[in-house]
Amino acid sequence: MTEPDAGSAVTELTTKAEPDGDGFVINGAKIFGTHSGEAELFLVYVRFGPGVDGIGSVLIERGTPGFDIGRPSAFMNGEHWSELHFDNCRIPKENVLLPAGGFKKQMSGFNVERLGNAARAVALGRHAFDVAREHALNRRQFGRPICEFQGLQWKFADMAIRLDSAQLLLMRAAVNADRGLPSAYETAMAKAACNLAGFEAANESLQVMGGHGFSEESIVQYCLRRTRGWMIAGGSVEILKNRIAEEIFERRFPQRPPRPAS
Ligand SMILES: Cc1cc2nc3c(=O)[nH]c(=O)nc-3n(C[C@H](O)[C@H](O)[C@H](O)COP(=O)(O)OP(=O)(O)OC[C@H]3O[C@@H](n4cnc5c(N)ncnc54)[C@H](O)[C@@H]3O)c2cc1C
Repeated sequence: MTEPDAGSAVTELTTKAEPDGDGFVINGAKIFGTHSGEAELFLVYVRFGPGVDGIGSVLIERGTPGFDIGRPSAFMNGEHWSELHFDNCRIPKENVLLPAGGFKKQMSGFNVERLGNAARAVALGRHAFDVAREHALNRRQFGRPICEFQGLQWKFADMAIRLDSAQLLLMRAAVNADRGLPSAYETAMAKAACNLAGFEAANESLQVMGGHGFSEESIVQYCLRRTRGWMIAGGSVEILKNRIAEEIFERRFPQRPPRPAS
């Protein structure tokens, strides 16, 4: 999906699919695809024509002539991504997943991925919480277990409130989607809440564990790095809040500057 000049503004993507005999020729570049260095099959959002209605998607196999996978780069969470380059890369028409006009359908399906992202965020936040709780029960300072200090008790209470609230929003989105795809609004609420709760829990858990939490051997610093990435991946927290605001005010708030009057 993501391109050098199309991140949050994903509909600005420029990777083109042009008809060529009984297939299509793809030209353009993609960035940030997680594990793109190892993948065998790629779901690539492409432009068949102008505007949002010109966007669709195709499947491209590794090794297809004209498809080059660049040098791997590492995210802070340890996962790798590679730049993908399509230079007159020809694919058969059977590889078109969604033709022009398929963008909204593709994004509805992507809400499932967003719930997966939300579930992972809350799960890693909870794991960090459990590890820190154990630490607070056993670590002694000033002659008593550190869980006896109110300053730390309130951190745990805040983490528990946020994690439980976020998980309930996630469950609402999943349960209401049991006969179809999750709603965009409930998905946005769930993902934003889980991303924030997961990251805050990991961050506060690390604080509770002091130097042990900040050490590379600690699983909690890993939870922190993973949960941090999900606040950006799959629709950043800010973009999700924009979507939530549109539901609240029952109107669209276009993010692009107004077109100059002709
Ligand atoms: C861990 C990780 C995994 C990823 N995996 C994939 C993948 O598998 N496939 C893929 O295609 N992409 C992937 N991405 C890319 C991801 O989708 C983009 O990073 C994301 O959409 C943001 O785009 P950007 O990085 O270009 O930031 P930008 O769009 O440049 O945004 C920069 C900042 O500005 C904020 N911002 C932008 N516009 C607005 C606005 N209108 N209102 C308020 N704030 C705004 C953003 O929230 C962000 O904080 C991944 C990213 C990460 C971090």
